[in-house]
Amino acid sequence: MNLILIVEDEPGIARVLSAYLKKASFEVIHAADGITALELFKQHQPALVVLDVMLPGMDGWELLQLIREQGACPVIMLTARDGIEDRLSGLDGGADDYMTKPFIPEEVVARVNAVLRRRPYVNDRNSKRHFGNLVIDYAAKCVYLNGAEVGLSPRDLSLLLFLSEYPNRTFTRDHLIEQVWGMDYEGSDRAVDLSVKRLRQLLCNWSSDVGEIRTLRGMGYQFWISE
Ligand code: CA
Repeated sequence: MNLILIVEDEPGIARVLSAYLKKASFEVIHAADGITALELFKQHQPALVVLDVMLPGMDGWELLQLIREQGACPVIMLTARDGIEDRLSGLDGGADDYMTKPFIPEEVVARVNAVLRRRPYVNDRNSKRHFGNLVIDYAAKCVYLNGAEVGLSPRDLSLLLFLSEYPNRTFTRDHLIEQVWGMDYEGSDRAVDLSVKRLRQLLCNWSSDVGEIRTLRGMGYQFWISE
């Protein structure tokens, strides 16, 4: 059974969310602040986190970064209506989805299901591939740089797995959204740019003479490796 961590300081909202998710056969744990949430996260390794932005103490964006450092776990953000776009683009948050308050509980359940269905790209190859100091394990869906695992969100991970599977081929943003994230992905094609930006940051120690994620102006992106 999938375990969902709800991080929400308003008891009423937490109760409603919890009730709906339980009705949809999820197991639910709840935290009302960031510190408790992080402890629960480490202890229980949930399948997904529903994370309110406005929390006492550490806010949802800070907590999101700390969760990202722990490894790949999908996160749905709950945000206030005002200024959401500024916040999302400005902070380049890296959430897998977000919902604005007030929301319909059924819709949260639907989004949780959708995000969990959006599995990272599955590969036939049961092997690791080495790109210099970057190692990608397609079976385990893990990425290692200089021997240490790189913590990627499911969305960024699936993009990297796909691009690296087809080195030196260029894909348009639309193609990547359709092939990697699925037709039901709702978001702007700017999401691809942001995802590539995050990947470049995380892989900044990847030897540039071995490879890099290249932008081909007006065409798209390419996982370039030297032949
Ligand atoms: Ca709140």
